[in-house]
Amino acid sequence: MKAIRVHKFGGSEELKLEEIPTPQPAAGQVLVRIHAAGVNPYDTYMRAGTYAVKPPLPYTPGSDAAGVIEAIGEGIKKVKVGDRVYTARTITGAYAEYALALEEQVFCLPEKINFAQGAGVWVPYGTAYHALFHSAQAHASETVLVHGASGGVGTATLQLARAAGLTVFGTAGTAKGLELATREGAHRVFDHAKPGYAEQIMEASEGRGVDIVVEMLANVNLPGDMKMLATNGRIIVVGNRGEVTINARELMSRRAAVRGFTLWALTAAETADIHAGLGAGMENGTLRPIVGKEIPLVEAPRAHREVLEPGAHGKIVLIP
Ligand code: NAP
Repeated sequence: MKAIRVHKFGGSEELKLEEIPTPQPAAGQVLVRIHAAGVNPYDTYMRAGTYAVKPPLPYTPGSDAAGVIEAIGEGIKKVKVGDRVYTARTITGAYAEYALALEEQVFCLPEKINFAQGAGVWVPYGTAYHALFHSAQAHASETVLVHGASGGVGTATLQLARAAGLTVFGTAGTAKGLELATREGAHRVFDHAKPGYAEQIMEASEGRGVDIVVEMLANVNLPGDMKMLATNGRIIVVGNRGEVTINARELMSRRAAVRGFTLWALTAAETADIHAGLGAGMENGTLRPIVGKEIPLVEAPRAHREVLEPGAHGKIVLIP
């Protein structure tokens, strides 16, 4: 099979398309024929060797894929050959024609979600769900600011928050991103590339501030986010790419909290909760992953460069 392999940590040029043997599932494993693989920013940090999790080399990147069960090992009960699935991690890596996964890493992909969309489920929607419902413990009567609403996690957060009844504010840095955020559930949108947008957010909340911020770039926005919070507000740090200085007094006067997490540390109960919520949302049509770009697998280096560029528009997915 064809697969992207990384033999040493480094730039996007380290992603090489190679021919390797197609793996066969052992007991408790399934083989997925991959139709699309999701590209997440963390895939680039891992490839660069700067991420907290360093896979043994060589490795095939990617945790998010959608496809069809090609073969099953002994003892598999949850799925059968021919079933449509999305993956939440795999054993052998998603940037390939086939991937081995554990039975507990594959989930039914509803008919109304196509494979490219299915490749944008696990990391973006798992993160959005965990941020809103586990970490922030969001309530329908609250206002959430999705700070970075045009990308994978942002669009997922908009859809989940809107479906749960919250008042939803979103930001993006381009006209196209702002349009997307409005379409995917934001009641109000703001341009984070233009000075003065924080004041506009305060005005939109009638001076009260927002209850929750889901933050995609904390190293840039954390000090300003703290000033936009209502009493008992929560900032949930999803993305961060550097250091930042804050004045903790902004939290004290608001009885506010800053929380962070990584998807790697989810408990089994949280994971079960997330997949139940995502499955139901995809079934009932409230969750519709947004695919901005489909890129051939061989062009994975381009996908890794573009996922870090400004002007996000939903997900970038690779097509084997
Ligand atoms: P993405 O699809 O590339 O989207 C990036 C988002 O950040 C876009 O909406 C972009 O908006 C926005 N952004 C850019 N500059 C910004 C600014 N100054 N202020 C606010 N937002 C800004 O990435 P993603 O998949 O949504 O992931 C977002 C971040 O979360 C990444 O850093 C990723 O590594 C991290 N993440 C963390 C976890 C976790 O477990 N903690 C899980 C998933 C993702 P424009 O392009 O419109 O400017």
